[in-house]
Amino acid sequence: MNDTSAKEMICILCPLGCKMQVSEKPDQPGELKVRGIQCKEGKKYAYEEYKNPTRTLTSTVAIHNTPLPRLPVKTSKPLPKGLIYEAMDEINKVELTGPVKVGTVIIKGLLGTDIDIVATRSLG
Ligand code: SF4
Repeated sequence: MNDTSAKEMICILCPLGCKMQVSEKPDQPGELKVRGIQCKEGKKYAYEEYKNPTRTLTSTVAIHNTPLPRLPVKTSKPLPKGLIYEAMDEINKVELTGPVKVGTVIIKGLLGTDIDIVATRSLG
């Protein structure tokens, strides 16, 4: 029988890309029923993705005095999905002057988190 309240998600941990159906167990608060996975890593991923989905954010920032006008950057670790638009607002405020080395922290403690924005290449 289909669980109509289940959330459909794809596990992205390996190329099999299992299609998961995830729903809360009504009789066990905080516990999830996960169908469609083929391994326990998939179950862990389902819990993370259901309860606190995160993404590594990649973007670019303005930079002057360098051969290219934009410097590629990314978050130092995955950011909660709900913060992505605010994070982009912060990234869009940045204007650098080169040169910059790969790995340089461009924004420390983004939005009060322990996540930084770092340069993903050297420029200038
Ligand atoms: S559930 Fe396991 S087998 Fe399926 S995609 Fe995820 S990691 Fe791969």
